[in-house]
Amino acid sequence: MSASHWLECPDCGLLQVLPPPRPGHVRRCPRCHRSFGDGTNHGDAARALTLTALILFALANLNPFLGLSFGGRETTIHLGSGVEGMASHGSDLLPVALMVLAISILAPLGRLTALGLVLLRLRHGRNNRLTAHLMRFADRLRVWSMLDVFLVGALIALTKLHDLATVEVGIGLYMLGALVLILALLEMAIDRHAIWNQIHPSPSADIPARPDWLGCSECAMVQEPGERCVRCGCPLHRRKPHSLDRAGALVATGFVLYLPANLYPVLTVISLGRGAPATILGGVMELLNGADWPLAVIVFTASVAVPLMKLFGLAWLILSAQRGVDWGLPDHTRLYRLIDLVGRWSTVDVIVAALLTALVTLGNIAEVLPGLGVLAFGGVVFVTLLATEFFDPRLLWDAAGENNA
Ligand SMILES: [Zn+2]
Ligand SMILES: [Zn+2]
Repeated sequence: MSASHWLECPDCGLLQVLPPPRPGHVRRCPRCHRSFGDGTNHGDAARALTLTALILFALANLNPFLGLSFGGRETTIHLGSGVEGMASHGSDLLPVALMVLAISILAPLGRLTALGLVLLRLRHGRNNRLTAHLMRFADRLRVWSMLDVFLVGALIALTKLHDLATVEVGIGLYMLGALVLILALLEMAIDRHAIWNQIHPSPSADIPARPDWLGCSECAMVQEPGERCVRCGCPLHRRKPHSLDRAGALVATGFVLYLPANLYPVLTVISLGRGAPATILGGVMELLNGADWPLAVIVFTASVAVPLMKLFGLAWLILSAQRGVDWGLPDHTRLYRLIDLVGRWSTVDVIVAALLTALVTLGNIAEVLPGLGVLAFGGVVFVTLLATEFFDPRLLWDAAGENNA
């Protein structure tokens, strides 16, 4: 575990020897500067944090999240109410409801449970196939668990309602705040690379490298060609299969959906029988008029700038890989990592819409209705997240002839 071993960089495809971990030192790929972590796993702390997170997750779900009172009438919602809010407005919005369910409940719960089991099994020395499957499951759900985005969405929803009615913050929201903090600490306490090596070590650097070695797209282990990865069990390919075609088709779909996402209203806020449908940009303008400019900046960045940056960025990367662009490769790889990192934040507007429609249900006095724009916008977010998963950044380096040696 502590010895140096062979590794293929998942971002640029460079076969390299990863030195033993040294506390406080982050190891990076010499070519594309991808981080491989400091290699230290704080197992005891991580197990304690996982347990705390699971308890907080239960408390956040069981306690009231937000309350609204207006003209003597009251409503309260729970963390999961956003899902019902969307689903109750017709089957058109069912995909959006399922997306909110996945990112706020299923993915975080699945990832936490799987990660907790992996940490427990490793402590008891059970590093077998089941442990590897659980770790792969936890890895896959990482991008889709968005409780931090959900928390920001709740805070935006809260601000938007301030002018409309009296809003009460419930215990559930405080629990969610604590949970997001614990989850951030948990991510710092574990080193994904070190966990994978504990499950099954990568080839030691003492073994001479073989020219036909492949790096697994899921767990990054180098190995001889075969049907499946000997460590994580996923199908083994030199590169993600049909990467550019799949990512390209998804990005094209994203561009097509971007138009209705901005032209159709996302929300209609009805207050005392009056109200007009608002688009994404309309919502930003409304926040600006209400002098909530910090929120306006957040919503504009998350809902307008980030999706456009993702669509144009991915399109540029796909074209570069197809045409064999051989300059600025580290910067192109960095752009891919940036898209991967910030992409999930564009979900925030979908969450705001889901929470508002669930909370504001006072008939003619006050009501928020979701519009078709949410469906198209949710589609943009979903296809760009998938396109980022399917795109294999190693193809950029392959096409420029950097991986021939
Ligand atoms: Zn690299
Ligand atoms: Zn693998």
